[in-house]
Amino acid sequence: MPRNKDNVDLICDIAERAGLFEKSSSLENFLDTVIRIIAWHMKAAVCSIYLYEEDQNEIVLRATQGLKSEAVGNIRLKLGEGLTGLVLKELRPIREARSSQNPNFKRFPYLEEQPYEAFLAVPILRGLNRIGVLVVQDPQPDYFDDNDLKALRAIAAQLATTIESAKLLMDIHDLQLRQGEADAVPVEVEALQLVRGKCACDGIALGKSSVIGRNVEASLEAFENDPAPRTLDDFYQALKETEGQLTELQKELESELSDVASLIFSAHLLILKDAEFSGRIIKTIEQGTPPQKAVAQVVKHYINLFKATSNPNLREKVQDMQDLGHRLLMNLMVHDPSQADYAGRILIAEDLLPSVLLKLATQKAAGLVHIGGNLTSHVSILANSLQIPTVLVDEPRLLEIGEDRAVLLDADQGNVFIDPSDEVLNHYRALLETSPQDREGTPDIREQTVTRDGRRIVLQANINILSELRMVDRMKAEGIGLYRSEFPFIVRNDFPSEEEQYRVYRKIFEHMAGKPVTLRTLDVGGDKFLSYARNLKETNPFLGLRAIRFSLRNRSIFIQQIKAMLRAGEGHRLRIMFPMISSLDDFIAARDVVLESRQQLEQEGIAHHPHPELGIMIELPSAIEMIDDLAPVVRFISIGTNDLVQYVLAVDRTNEFIADLYQPHHPAVLRAMDRIVQAAERHQLEVSVCGDMAADPHMAPVLIGLGIQTLSLNPRSIPGIQPVITDVTFEEVRDKTQQALRMNRVGEIESLLGIPARGEHG
Ligand code: PEP
Ligand code: MG
Repeated sequence: MPRNKDNVDLICDIAERAGLFEKSSSLENFLDTVIRIIAWHMKAAVCSIYLYEEDQNEIVLRATQGLKSEAVGNIRLKLGEGLTGLVLKELRPIREARSSQNPNFKRFPYLEEQPYEAFLAVPILRGLNRIGVLVVQDPQPDYFDDNDLKALRAIAAQLATTIESAKLLMDIHDLQLRQGEADAVPVEVEALQLVRGKCACDGIALGKSSVIGRNVEASLEAFENDPAPRTLDDFYQALKETEGQLTELQKELESELSDVASLIFSAHLLILKDAEFSGRIIKTIEQGTPPQKAVAQVVKHYINLFKATSNPNLREKVQDMQDLGHRLLMNLMVHDPSQADYAGRILIAEDLLPSVLLKLATQKAAGLVHIGGNLTSHVSILANSLQIPTVLVDEPRLLEIGEDRAVLLDADQGNVFIDPSDEVLNHYRALLETSPQDREGTPDIREQTVTRDGRRIVLQANINILSELRMVDRMKAEGIGLYRSEFPFIVRNDFPSEEEQYRVYRKIFEHMAGKPVTLRTLDVGGDKFLSYARNLKETNPFLGLRAIRFSLRNRSIFIQQIKAMLRAGEGHRLRIMFPMISSLDDFIAARDVVLESRQQLEQEGIAHHPHPELGIMIELPSAIEMIDDLAPVVRFISIGTNDLVQYVLAVDRTNEFIADLYQPHHPAVLRAMDRIVQAAERHQLEVSVCGDMAADPHMAPVLIGLGIQTLSLNPRSIPGIQPVITDVTFEEVRDKTQQALRMNRVGEIESLLGIPARGEHG
């Protein structure tokens, strides 16, 4: 058997190609190039790529070397049909020495030059999403070996993101064929002056409005009717400038926010470079339409197509398209790159995706008004991590105020002023002229937190993204009590590999230099969905495939994450925490994954931490019932009060209609917490709180009164909470807490703790 295949070169070549796709003009050429390289290096007679079409549940041959070219677009297999269909159905590679002997083998004799016996195929996956199948075949039986399999797998992994982008373009092209132009819907603009809401991230900002999502055409129309003379050359120039700016933004994002940054602007670039998009504009200009009108028309056409489709991947691209159109027109008409961004603007949005928020933050938006959002929802948490002043309001009419209205955002108070009067502006002038850092001043924080009678309380930080490490230092947090590892997964539009995760976790350990760090495993589901695992539709996502349930069902993703954590924790004190544990079985299953991951690393000879401390979050009533069984086997517990309150009281933490029923001080919650702390004391188990209750000045003393000595909270809340603790004695808060535990009415507890009564339930 000829063994002069050069698979290592092949992987390098492909890695380079994947990067080159962004620059290539045609998707078909790209796929053809890829399979030619693979066939050449593997010395295989046939190499083909099949892509998965979700709506049809079929895979379609999209490029081939070796099979007749008529086969492209025509060979269609149901999921599970033939060996190739089986690979994608069962998500596993298949290697056959003599494929004709496998009963699943499906032959298309009219397309083959000769029978190809050796068969090797691997699934192309991005995270959980099926992208397609990569197949090599050869007439010589038993031609492919283990190394070929490994190489093909590595290539499929590298190509997944690129191919998914390519697929997106194909979907766009298909959509163009299937649908006609839709008419823009005119919107009414109402006069609003002051809207009150809730603060999700404090700060004060003044800027012009930009409405994200709705009314997208309005911003294009101003340009469309501009009579300024522009030429085709001007359009080419604008195209070039736009590409340069987007590439620059992506670079900036990668240096500032490396953990969540990957390919955030890829859809913009992809559409921009798509010959069909620019070709359409060029053709319209050549037919005599002014360039600005041509751009606006084509962009609107795409927006309408995306809006109308049932494909969620494409619907999400509406905002990207709006952004791209605005940028192109700015470069064509105004030649001021700073205005092409959302720099200094106040964004008004509804249903914002985390990745969109990140894009807007990179473009230095000054503030955000989020309609219908909730404080503990992931978009609010992210806005806070990114430090964008954000107000949550319940006023959909704001979406219709249009572009370029003056908006003053007082996120400290939760006020949004539209076209503020001189009187309002004068009132805020001094604050607006001070930079956010100066406004905050240097917080006066002690290194250690001690109650008046000498009880030591440890204040640690909850963080979501790496850039918050600066805040951890500034606020003198004594460690990281909760790293929410899901943020790189939910913000990015691709799936972080083991290596990428490793680098993120490693940075945390290195930064914290010996202070304790608790890494929580993936807590997706609920309102934290992975945009690329959207086929998971649940009626009650908070009661669904969430957190540890998701990880245990997706074992390979879980193993990847644990391996990354074990590797990153090498030489450090490594604490791994599992979210939403409901039973001893959940914990044991998760622990088994740690053992398996460790074994794999041992076999691979990769340095790692062999004995991490394993802990769990207590968030479910079932975990409280099981606490005496869980306590002996775990090293620590942390009470996730955000979820505990939600599950004990059956109040959706993201539902603003019942926000008044979400009562952390409810007697049932306090008694449940007391049971947890009592059990921890019985078993001499370390217990902390990492939910928002720790950052609530009314509730933090109660937690201390219950006997908790470690609180993990948003680092920005430390300056507010530390004085509350240093002001009290343990004895007095313990007595007060005991009193509260004896009460059975919410109102009584509210009066005792000085909590303003909420609604009629107080
Ligand atoms: C909690 O539930 O209290 C918690 C800290 O986890 P998350 O807010 O990420 O669900
Ligand atoms: Mg939780």
